[in-house]
Amino acid sequence: PTLRPDRLPEDEAADTRALRPQQLGDFIGQAEARANLRIFLEAARRRGEAMDHTLFHGPPGLGKTTLAQIMARELGVNFRMTSGPVLAKAGDLAAILTNLEARDVLFIDEIHRLNPVVEEVLYPALEDFELDLVIGEGPAARTVRIELQPFTLVGATTRLGLLTTPLRDRFGIPVRLQFYTVDELHDIVTRNARLMGAPAEPDGALEIARRARGTPRIAGRLLRRVADFAMVEGDGRITRELADGALTRLGVDHLGLDAGDRRYLKMIGEEYGGGPVGIETLSAALSESRDGLEDVIEPYLLQQALIQRTPRGRMLAQKGWRHLGLTPPRSQTD
Ligand code: ADP
Repeated sequence: PTLRPDRLPEDEAADTRALRPQQLGDFIGQAEARANLRIFLEAARRRGEAMDHTLFHGPPGLGKTTLAQIMARELGVNFRMTSGPVLAKAGDLAAILTNLEARDVLFIDEIHRLNPVVEEVLYPALEDFELDLVIGEGPAARTVRIELQPFTLVGATTRLGLLTTPLRDRFGIPVRLQFYTVDELHDIVTRNARLMGAPAEPDGALEIARRARGTPRIAGRLLRRVADFAMVEGDGRITRELADGALTRLGVDHLGLDAGDRRYLKMIGEEYGGGPVGIETLSAALSESRDGLEDVIEPYLLQQALIQRTPRGRMLAQKGWRHLGLTPPRSQTD
């Protein structure tokens, strides 16, 4: 679905058209994270040392990969990218680590999904830039120690809670990314429209920004779809009316929720009397993975105060009832 913030091939294609910000100065939003990173980058550069290991956490599509790439560019070093699930064996990680040059940035996406064996190999690499590899098997097995170049690990995760404590403790710079404000997304949509050569009126760009779920990846995707409608059914210009019509036809409501979000809210409201209902129950009822609900659907609904998380489960909040046009049961109108 259009509104899922997960990475899709078409997003990558758009990024190769230079839509992805290249420098810290082009990066819109996340002011606090940006200000801190600027200091740490400058300090590392002046010392001529590898920057401290950095962990970005927050919902998908908020710019974790983009910031990691910007860090490498600002440090003037190579950028290497892999992900937790891809590193199946210790040897996979060893091959990457031994090929790093001094001060390079190694980006590991979905780092909470690292295999524990691989994670063990990573610890000494992070602390002492050393790799202990076991060669051979049985009685002939021996350990060899390989010296690595100092490097910066940049980890990204949508689920900080799933990181093991020892791994978490090895990141000197933890950075939490927040949902973007409508104003920030407005700037991002305006910039992307300009780079795409799509004429967007300020009100048209604003309409897209309002309905982008606080997420630049979704803003980019909605802009591309609206530009399609503008080209085929309009005169190419992205006006507010055109954006509104196109987004409504895409099933994106005025809060930016799509059919999947509304299905989630309705399930709690209509089937479970507004909750509380446990996440496992919801996951089964919706035939959606628990991870998918917790990573992708819930963060924005929580941020918008449409739902609440309680120790006994999820509940529809007042704003959630109103959004569905339903009346909450008497017990919940306090
Ligand atoms: P994540 O790694 O957090 O899932 P990405 O870094 O891949 O997110 O960013 C998702 C998309 O949003 C990319 O297309 C990227 O170019 C764009 N993007 C992210 N942050 C910004 C920003 N601050 N300004 C402009 N575009 C952004």
